[in-house]
Amino acid sequence: MNGSISSTDIRTGLVIGIHKKELGFGRQVAAILPKADIRIVQIDQGLPQQESFNGRGYYYSAFHREIYLQLHQQVKNKIDLLIDLHTGINESGRCADIFCSDKHLLGRIKKTLNESKVNFFDHSQAVRLFKIATVSSREHAASSSFPVCHTIIPGTVWESDQYSYVGLEIYLQDTGKGKQADWVYGAGLVEGIIKANHGNP
Ligand SMILES: [Zn+2]
Repeated sequence: MNGSISSTDIRTGLVIGIHKKELGFGRQVAAILPKADIRIVQIDQGLPQQESFNGRGYYYSAFHREIYLQLHQQVKNKIDLLIDLHTGINESGRCADIFCSDKHLLGRIKKTLNESKVNFFDHSQAVRLFKIATVSSREHAASSSFPVCHTIIPGTVWESDQYSYVGLEIYLQDTGKGKQADWVYGAGLVEGIIKANHGNP
């Protein structure tokens, strides 16, 4: 880094490549985001395909947990917001899921995206928002303003009191690193989440 802005001033972390095959997309999104605002945390040795652990689910879970705990150690005192970028496949069109345990932040994200120039909620680019909860809090699902989901990501990360965790999964129409329009869409969502995080509670 050689800019005049100290990296210690950057309070948003964007982690790319937790799943190894998704790193190509993450790098493309990172490349079009403003460097001055976002600390890119690139995982070079991310998780291989779950299928490659064929019959050894325990090892996958252990590796998954370890990679997130290492990430937590790396970022915990440096950022206020951690965006965890992933990709999935949706053959019928580009769309995205956003996961966060803070329903107030989810509300601000929804509002910010609604006010954005890009219509993130139109049919082809639908964004769905989910509230992460523990399995034991399942009974509260009905009272939440967002659908509730559970995650195997350690609570140390998604429930951190040192930063807000936001998972972002972009669904591409095909395997691979995606196209320019996918990267712009992903970057737009990242910027929307950052803007929402800066907003009033
Ligand atoms: Zn992933």
